[in-house]
Amino acid sequence: MNALTPFRPCPACDTPDVTNMAQFAHDTWKIGKCKLCDFVFLRNPTEYEALEEDFAWEETFWAEDAERKKKRGILKRAAYHARMLGYRLKGDPQNKYVKLLGAGKILDIGCGEVVRWTAPFEPYGIEISKHLHARADAKMKALGGECFQGAGAERIFTLPENHFDSVMMHSYLEHEVQYRELLAGCFRCLKPGGRAFIRVPNFNSLNRRLVGAKWPGFRYPDHVNYFTQQTLRTAAQEAGFEFKLTNKAKIWLDDNIQALLTKPAVT
Ligand SMILES: [Zn+2]
Repeated sequence: MNALTPFRPCPACDTPDVTNMAQFAHDTWKIGKCKLCDFVFLRNPTEYEALEEDFAWEETFWAEDAERKKKRGILKRAAYHARMLGYRLKGDPQNKYVKLLGAGKILDIGCGEVVRWTAPFEPYGIEISKHLHARADAKMKALGGECFQGAGAERIFTLPENHFDSVMMHSYLEHEVQYRELLAGCFRCLKPGGRAFIRVPNFNSLNRRLVGAKWPGFRYPDHVNYFTQQTLRTAAQEAGFEFKLTNKAKIWLDDNIQALLTKPAVT
């Protein structure tokens, strides 16, 4: 097996007192819950070096996606396609994010090869996978931006302070082993008054409680943090942000948490 770290302490509060959640283990991957702060996390994540080449998330995502589709019945498959079609018909979601974040320099962390943001956004990104980074960088440069290659929590500290108007972390923070450092880096590189958008799987969703280990929010070993709205709020506030859920209504039914973080205008 590839480079595995030993079992880590709680990434939220550093305590080694962790309850093993054996019901969610998958092959060699173990999930644990902190006895002090209730944070749920993958206890043995891979090293960053492995993520750059061997464990590129897109490869495991598509392999698991194919397996899930095989297991899904024909009715569920039809429902899935209907949902995807509905999503496309809603049109470009960029307007939603312009309203939430404002225009200007947007830093999309874990952007992959996709450039989701065009004018009035100026697209920047950080991507760990070398081959995805190369494609994103060419596209972003053509739009006046740039993509930076590296591990998010480390690369972000090489970027200028008080520089970006917004940060996008869409389906990213659940992948980031050093998520507290990453949030501190976001706070540092945002302009005062700048905002960050976060979308992560919701470990407290009703669906997760109903389907248990079959919950699609579990991805091994790509997802290393399993946030609840409480643990996400704590992490954002510790980094200095004001925190606001954007899908507060019926959050317990939602498989995802969506939140807007604001760096106070005067710090
Ligand atoms: Zn803890």
